[in-house]
Amino acid sequence: MYKIEPLKYAYDALEPYIDEKTVEIHYSKHHFNYLNKLNESLQKANYDYRYSLEDLVNHIDELPLDLRGAILFNAGGVLNHNLYWEIMSPYKNSVPVGQLNGKIIEQYGSFENFKTEFINSASKVTGSGWTFLVLDEFENLNIINTSNQETPYIYNFIPLMGLDLWEHAYYLNYQNRRDEYIANFFEVVDFVNVNNIYEKAIQK
Ligand code: MN
Repeated sequence: MYKIEPLKYAYDALEPYIDEKTVEIHYSKHHFNYLNKLNESLQKANYDYRYSLEDLVNHIDELPLDLRGAILFNAGGVLNHNLYWEIMSPYKNSVPVGQLNGKIIEQYGSFENFKTEFINSASKVTGSGWTFLVLDEFENLNIINTSNQETPYIYNFIPLMGLDLWEHAYYLNYQNRRDEYIANFFEVVDFVNVNNIYEKAIQK
Protein backbone atom coordinates (compact mmCIF):
# COMPACT_ATOMS: atom_id res chain seq x y z
CA MET A 1 0.00 0.00 0.00
CA TYR A 2 1.13 3.51 -0.73
CA LYS A 3 0.91 5.92 2.21
CA ILE A 4 0.96 9.64 2.80
CA GLU A 5 3.03 11.59 5.27
CA PRO A 6 1.42 13.30 8.24
CA LEU A 7 1.08 17.07 7.81
CA LYS A 8 4.07 18.83 9.35
CA TYR A 9 1.92 21.66 10.72
CA ALA A 10 -1.47 22.13 12.34
CA TYR A 11 -4.59 22.63 10.23
CA ASP A 12 -4.72 26.27 11.29
CA ALA A 13 -1.01 26.96 10.72
CA LEU A 14 -1.48 28.59 7.32
CA GLU A 15 -4.12 31.05 8.55
CA PRO A 16 -5.14 33.61 7.44
CA TYR A 17 -3.94 32.74 3.92
CA ILE A 18 -5.38 29.25 3.89
CA ASP A 19 -8.03 28.65 6.51
CA GLU A 20 -8.15 25.80 9.00
CA LYS A 21 -11.32 24.16 7.67
CA THR A 22 -10.00 24.12 4.11
CA VAL A 23 -6.70 22.53 5.16
CA GLU A 24 -8.51 19.96 7.32
CA ILE A 25 -10.94 18.86 4.60
CA HIS A 26 -8.38 19.11 1.85
CA TYR A 27 -5.81 16.97 3.64
CA SER A 28 -7.94 14.53 5.64
CA LYS A 29 -10.69 13.99 3.05
CA HIS A 30 -9.55 14.89 -0.47
CA HIS A 31 -5.91 13.81 -0.22
CA PHE A 32 -6.78 10.58 1.59
CA ASN A 33 -9.51 9.88 -0.91
CA TYR A 34 -6.99 9.91 -3.77
CA LEU A 35 -4.79 7.57 -1.74
CA ASN A 36 -7.59 5.14 -0.89
CA LYS A 37 -8.94 5.04 -4.44
CA LEU A 38 -5.41 4.48 -5.76
CA ASN A 39 -4.76 1.56 -3.43
CA GLU A 40 -8.19 0.06 -4.22
CA SER A 41 -7.47 0.10 -7.96
CA LEU A 42 -4.00 -1.32 -7.45
CA GLN A 43 -5.37 -4.14 -5.34
CA LYS A 44 -7.87 -4.96 -8.07
CA ALA A 45 -4.89 -5.09 -10.44
CA ASN A 46 -2.97 -7.43 -8.08
CA TYR A 47 -0.16 -4.92 -8.22
CA ASP A 48 2.90 -5.77 -6.11
CA TYR A 49 3.99 -2.19 -5.25
CA ARG A 50 7.31 -2.63 -7.03
CA TYR A 51 7.63 1.04 -8.04
CA SER A 52 7.85 4.28 -6.17
CA LEU A 53 4.75 6.34 -6.83
CA GLU A 54 6.78 8.69 -9.05
CA ASP A 55 7.84 5.72 -11.18
CA LEU A 56 4.47 4.02 -11.23
CA VAL A 57 2.94 6.67 -13.49
CA ASN A 58 5.55 5.94 -16.16
CA HIS A 59 4.84 2.20 -16.01
CA ILE A 60 1.10 2.55 -16.40
CA ASP A 61 1.22 0.31 -19.49
CA GLU A 62 1.98 -2.64 -17.19
CA LEU A 63 -1.40 -2.30 -15.50
CA PRO A 64 -4.82 -3.45 -16.75
CA LEU A 65 -6.27 -1.15 -19.38
CA ASP A 66 -9.59 -0.63 -17.61
CA LEU A 67 -7.85 0.56 -14.41
CA ARG A 68 -5.25 2.88 -15.93
CA GLY A 69 -7.41 6.00 -15.95
CA ALA A 70 -8.29 5.68 -12.26
CA ILE A 71 -4.73 4.78 -11.28
CA LEU A 72 -3.20 7.73 -13.14
CA PHE A 73 -5.77 10.17 -11.79
CA ASN A 74 -5.43 9.05 -8.18
CA ALA A 75 -1.65 8.58 -8.25
CA GLY A 76 -1.40 12.11 -9.62
CA GLY A 77 -3.73 13.27 -6.87
CA VAL A 78 -1.51 11.74 -4.20
CA LEU A 79 1.77 13.02 -5.70
CA ASN A 80 0.47 16.52 -6.36
CA HIS A 81 -0.92 16.92 -2.86
CA ASN A 82 2.23 15.45 -1.25
CA LEU A 83 4.13 18.27 -2.91
CA TYR A 84 1.56 20.96 -2.11
CA TRP A 85 1.66 20.25 1.64
CA GLU A 86 5.42 19.89 1.65
CA ILE A 87 6.19 23.22 0.03
CA MET A 88 3.98 25.27 2.33
CA SER A 89 4.64 26.15 5.97
CA PRO A 90 3.95 28.87 8.51
CA TYR A 91 7.67 29.71 8.75
CA LYS A 92 7.75 32.65 6.34
CA ASN A 93 10.64 31.43 4.25
CA SER A 94 8.97 33.28 1.44
CA VAL A 95 11.91 34.20 -0.77
CA PRO A 96 14.05 31.72 -2.71
CA VAL A 97 17.27 30.50 -1.07
CA GLY A 98 20.26 28.34 -1.93
CA GLN A 99 20.98 27.06 -5.42
CA LEU A 100 17.35 27.55 -6.39
CA ASN A 101 17.68 31.27 -5.81
CA GLY A 102 20.64 31.42 -8.19
CA LYS A 103 18.78 29.43 -10.82
CA ILE A 104 15.67 31.63 -10.58
CA ILE A 105 17.78 34.76 -11.02
CA GLU A 106 19.68 33.19 -13.92
CA GLN A 107 16.51 32.21 -15.76
CA TYR A 108 13.97 34.85 -14.75
CA GLY A 109 16.16 37.82 -13.86
CA SER A 110 14.61 38.28 -10.42
CA PHE A 111 12.29 36.63 -7.94
CA GLU A 112 9.66 39.26 -8.73
CA ASN A 113 9.73 38.30 -12.43
CA PHE A 114 9.49 34.64 -11.54
CA LYS A 115 6.57 35.30 -9.24
CA THR A 116 4.76 37.33 -11.90
CA GLU A 117 5.23 34.55 -14.42
CA PHE A 118 4.00 31.89 -12.00
CA ILE A 119 0.94 33.96 -11.09
CA ASN A 120 0.21 34.62 -14.78
CA SER A 121 0.36 30.96 -15.53
CA ALA A 122 -1.90 30.10 -12.58
CA SER A 123 -4.44 32.69 -13.65
CA LYS A 124 -4.79 30.87 -16.98
CA VAL A 125 -5.85 27.52 -15.52
CA THR A 126 -9.42 26.77 -16.57
CA GLY A 127 -11.50 24.16 -14.81
CA SER A 128 -9.65 22.05 -12.25
CA GLY A 129 -5.89 21.91 -12.42
CA TRP A 130 -2.50 22.88 -11.10
CA THR A 131 0.40 25.21 -11.76
CA PHE A 132 3.84 23.74 -11.19
CA LEU A 133 7.43 24.85 -11.14
CA VAL A 134 9.26 21.89 -12.66
CA LEU A 135 12.77 20.83 -13.53
CA ASP A 136 13.24 19.49 -17.06
CA GLU A 137 15.76 16.96 -18.37
CA PHE A 138 18.24 19.78 -19.10
CA GLU A 139 17.98 20.90 -15.47
CA ASN A 140 16.16 24.06 -16.43
CA LEU A 141 13.16 25.46 -14.62
CA ASN A 142 9.78 25.66 -16.32
CA ILE A 143 6.37 26.81 -15.18
CA ILE A 144 3.58 24.58 -16.45
CA ASN A 145 -0.14 24.06 -15.95
CA THR A 146 -1.73 20.63 -15.82
CA SER A 147 -5.38 19.58 -15.89
CA ASN A 148 -7.24 17.67 -13.20
CA GLN A 149 -4.68 15.56 -11.29
CA GLU A 150 -2.17 15.14 -14.09
CA THR A 151 1.31 14.91 -12.55
CA PRO A 152 4.39 16.49 -14.21
CA TYR A 153 6.20 13.15 -13.78
CA ILE A 154 4.36 11.78 -16.81
CA TYR A 155 6.24 14.36 -18.91
CA ASN A 156 9.52 13.42 -17.22
CA PHE A 157 9.56 16.69 -15.34
CA ILE A 158 10.40 16.77 -11.64
CA PRO A 159 7.87 18.98 -9.87
CA LEU A 160 9.46 21.39 -7.37
CA MET A 161 6.50 23.49 -6.31
CA GLY A 162 2.79 23.03 -6.99
CA LEU A 163 -0.26 25.21 -6.57
CA ASP A 164 -3.61 23.45 -6.34
CA LEU A 165 -6.22 25.39 -8.31
CA TRP A 166 -9.16 23.09 -7.73
CA GLU A 167 -12.04 24.94 -6.10
CA HIS A 168 -11.75 22.69 -3.03
CA ALA A 169 -8.36 24.32 -2.34
CA TYR A 170 -9.76 27.80 -1.78
CA TYR A 171 -13.52 28.10 -2.17
CA LEU A 172 -14.54 28.05 1.52
CA ASN A 173 -12.41 31.09 2.21
CA TYR A 174 -12.10 32.88 -1.13
CA GLN A 175 -15.21 31.83 -3.09
CA ASN A 176 -14.74 33.28 -6.59
CA ARG A 177 -11.65 35.34 -5.61
CA ARG A 178 -9.15 32.85 -6.99
CA ASP A 179 -6.60 35.57 -7.84
CA GLU A 180 -6.39 36.45 -4.15
CA TYR A 181 -5.75 32.81 -3.24
CA ILE A 182 -3.02 32.63 -5.90
CA ALA A 183 -1.31 35.78 -4.61
CA ASN A 184 -1.58 34.64 -0.98
CA PHE A 185 -0.05 31.26 -1.81
CA PHE A 186 3.27 33.14 -1.94
CA GLU A 187 2.80 34.11 1.74
CA VAL A 188 2.93 30.43 2.75
CA VAL A 189 5.34 28.91 0.24
CA ASP A 190 8.41 27.70 2.11
CA PHE A 191 11.34 28.22 -0.24
CA VAL A 192 13.68 26.35 2.10
CA ASN A 193 11.63 23.24 1.32
CA VAL A 194 11.37 24.06 -2.40
CA ASN A 195 15.14 24.53 -2.51
CA ASN A 196 15.68 21.18 -0.75
CA ILE A 197 13.61 19.47 -3.43
CA TYR A 198 15.54 21.33 -6.15
CA GLU A 199 18.98 20.52 -4.74
CA LYS A 200 18.02 16.86 -4.39
CA ALA A 201 16.68 16.77 -7.96
CA ILE A 202 19.85 18.22 -9.54
CA GLN A 203 22.02 15.68 -7.72
CA LYS A 204 20.25 12.79 -9.44
MN1 MN B 1 -6.63 19.41 -3.96
